[in-house]
Amino acid sequence: SKHSGRSTFSWYTAEMDADAQHRKEIEEGLAKALRLDQFDVLFQPQYALKDNRLTGYEALIRWEHPVKGRIPPDLFIPVAEDCGLIEDIGDWVLNRACQEAANWEDNTLKVAVNVSAAQFKPGITERKVANALRASGLKPERLEIEITESLLIANTDAVVETLKAIRNMGVAIAMDDFGTGYSSLSYLSRFPFDKIKIDKAFIQNLGDDTSTDAIVTSIIGLGRSLDVLITAEGVETENQVTLLRAAGCHLVQGYYFGKPDSVRNHQESRLRKQAE
Ligand code: C2E
Ligand code: CA
Ligand code: CA
Ligand code: CA
Repeated sequence: SKHSGRSTFSWYTAEMDADAQHRKEIEEGLAKALRLDQFDVLFQPQYALKDNRLTGYEALIRWEHPVKGRIPPDLFIPVAEDCGLIEDIGDWVLNRACQEAANWEDNTLKVAVNVSAAQFKPGITERKVANALRASGLKPERLEIEITESLLIANTDAVVETLKAIRNMGVAIAMDDFGTGYSSLSYLSRFPFDKIKIDKAFIQNLGDDTSTDAIVTSIIGLGRSLDVLITAEGVETENQVTLLRAAGCHLVQGYYFGKPDSVRNHQESRLRKQAE
């Protein structure tokens, strides 16, 4: 329900009032941002470790606020999810990301779009994906939808059917933030996935403690035996790359390889490096 969590508390502190006021402001700002076209999409590169080849980009939304500047999604996506605006914002991102990708010079590159559980609607989401593909002309094989474990907790047949319908179009499904949810292993056999993204919390401790190394190695092994691609996200150091390569990880994404930016900027910096 949209009205979960704090709105059901029967007591308030001054702090919570301030918090509620702040959320109200964000909520009103978001509705306006949609109307005034204040959102932007940045793209973060993903590489195959095997041959260091660029495989595609993840689309990440930004709010370019006229007064407050660039606002990161962690500050407004949760509010959008609570007030229902996530549906319109999500539609905007999906269409924008598909349109951009359809115009990239390299028409083999993929684009990954985040679809949060609050925005995922069985019966509707598959139509929106089909519409975005049709409107942009993007080949379905170039689109990937990133979902999180929270969607699967509901575990309804309707969710499974929608994921299957999206996959049947040729669009890939990636499980984002893997390892941070509760039932990671039990649903893996029941839901159709093409890719698992290991949460950056694990990647950032790689090489620092042996239990994290063991967890990451076993997720990669699990992926390999299930025939699912593994992406490590939040890769920041060369040491992490070395360890991931040794463990057989397929794909990498992180500041070490490139921050979210416009695709034009990414291409210019690649050309500069090639010229060096
Ligand atoms: P996410 O989907 O897990 O996205 C990865 C986040 O990690 C991004 O943060 C990215 O900038 C950041 N990141 C990438 N590499 C590194 C690294 O090496 N080190 C560190 N410390 N961080 C790294 P961002 O762009 O701020 O997005 C945060 C979250 O907001 C996303 O997490 C996703 O859950 C949500 N989000 C972003 N864009 C959208 C969107 O279009 N729709 C929806 N529903 N959610 C979105
Ligand atoms: Ca993601
Ligand atoms: Ca993630
Ligand atoms: Ca996340």
